[in-house]
Amino acid sequence: MNQIKGGCLCGSVRYESSQAPALSAVCHCSHCQKQSGSAFSTNVVVPAAGFEVAARTLATFYDTGENGLSVKRHFCNQCGSPVYTELESNPGVVVVKAGTLDDPSWVQPHVHMWRGSAQPWVSVTEGTVCFERNPEA
Ligand SMILES: [Zn+2]
Ligand SMILES: [Zn+2]
Repeated sequence: MNQIKGGCLCGSVRYESSQAPALSAVCHCSHCQKQSGSAFSTNVVVPAAGFEVAARTLATFYDTGENGLSVKRHFCNQCGSPVYTELESNPGVVVVKAGTLDDPSWVQPHVHMWRGSAQPWVSVTEGTVCFERNPEA
């Protein structure tokens, strides 16, 4: 099983999941671009049930998704790393920022979301599943 274990840049926020990841996906939405300070975020979706966080410095930005439902973007208030996100639209999962994994080498995103707002220089491997915006729930 791919190990889901990681944390923020300074190490004050640590997490792990006892469950296997359900999906790896890239998101090109404007909010992920802003929060990551980059062109997109790379995410690993894990079941909320087996997800545990040990955090002294966790902070939350209360964002809103396109559907009007809440998106809780959790980050470290000491080093600023975005760490994971909880979606009101999908409470059964937690969306972990793949760059915070201790070992992200196995991550292979199969899905690209918000392809419509991707930066023009970003190329997507042929055969990858793409959604112009959010996938239909
Ligand atoms: Zn930190
Ligand atoms: Zn996004």
